[in-house]
Amino acid sequence: MDEARIETLSVHGGERRPGPEGSVVYPIYQSTVYSVPSDTDYHDIKYIRLNSTPSQAYLHDKLAALEGAEAALATASGLAAISTALHSVLRTGDHLLVGDCLYGGTHDFLTHHAADFGWRYTFIDPQRPETWEAARTPSTRAILVESITNPLVRVGRLGEVAELARRNGLVSLIDNTFATPVNFRPTAAGFDLSLHSATKYLNGHSDIVAGAIIGRAEHVERARTTSNHFGGSLDPHAGFLLARGLKTLALRVRTQNENALALAEFLAAQPKIREVNYPGLASHPDHAHAAELFDGFGGMLSIRPTGGVEAARALIDAVRLPYDAPSLGGVESLITRPVATSHAGMSRADRESLGITDDLVRISIGIEHRDDLIADFAQALAKL
Ligand SMILES: *Cc1c(COP(=O)(O)O)cnc(C)c1O
Repeated sequence: MDEARIETLSVHGGERRPGPEGSVVYPIYQSTVYSVPSDTDYHDIKYIRLNSTPSQAYLHDKLAALEGAEAALATASGLAAISTALHSVLRTGDHLLVGDCLYGGTHDFLTHHAADFGWRYTFIDPQRPETWEAARTPSTRAILVESITNPLVRVGRLGEVAELARRNGLVSLIDNTFATPVNFRPTAAGFDLSLHSATKYLNGHSDIVAGAIIGRAEHVERARTTSNHFGGSLDPHAGFLLARGLKTLALRVRTQNENALALAEFLAAQPKIREVNYPGLASHPDHAHAAELFDGFGGMLSIRPTGGVEAARALIDAVRLPYDAPSLGGVESLITRPVATSHAGMSRADRESLGITDDLVRISIGIEHRDDLIADFAQALAKL
């Protein structure tokens, strides 16, 4: 099974064969608690908050199989995965190196709360390894980056991040939400922990909120202990939907890779669009190393229309297929202005220093037919 390809792992990874009572689909064990021998260690008592019930164990095995990792833990949200992982790694006085273009929620978590926990952090530019040593201090304990950033879809020097961590005994963490294990497998690239908002591609149907921590067993076990104490476990019903979504992960993401590339190429040729950000385009500043790291470039792109913020608003109003909504990674295409949604919590100065301006439009590509998506953007652009 370890040798199997991602399509096969999506369907068969982690599955119990035969399942309980011969079931082909693993059932939902909704029981809160189970009888166990009286000398069982606290963390191994079977209780949903302790992440130890049969439905949770099944989901953990499936998540680990997909990234070719030793272990996994499901959490109540993507941000629970990130906060739990950081709490499991960092102690008071520890220092974190962190990529400078973070998912808005991760940025808010650190800027609002790191000082309360006695953590210090320094933003680094993930594209410039030559600048990282100067940011490292004797108390640096970990490094956190994202596989593809939001919304400018930049790809950092991920191999060098894992290498820096290995050389200096740091814990390396990567938010792999945007790339997914179909396009990038952090364990094979040398990362200790891969974090996901499973709300997005892993589930893929925009109908649950969930997260995942995947990676080396010793690190995942520490994260499980932290999660058991903090209380952010995933409910078995949501876990069932996540496992169902995972079975079509490879099919969905491959289609999204192809659709996004086709739409990016179309938009790049339109005079009413002045900029298209997509790592699959040769014009993207990270295209060359992204092509070495990834099997595909993902389903996210961002654009700037020639006509500024008015044109950005008009484009969002004129498209018929994508919903005007934040979030991403579902089967349906979504379109949004990050300044109004995902990055609204960031100060204007912080946003502008990262290039997240009012005219930027972000698109999460779904699994519609690519010709229909292109035709829809063509009719919308004709109205601008
Ligand atoms: C959505 C998202 C998160 C947060 O996940 P939730 O499930 O909303 O808590 C973290 N990282 C990235 C890259 C995301 O897109």
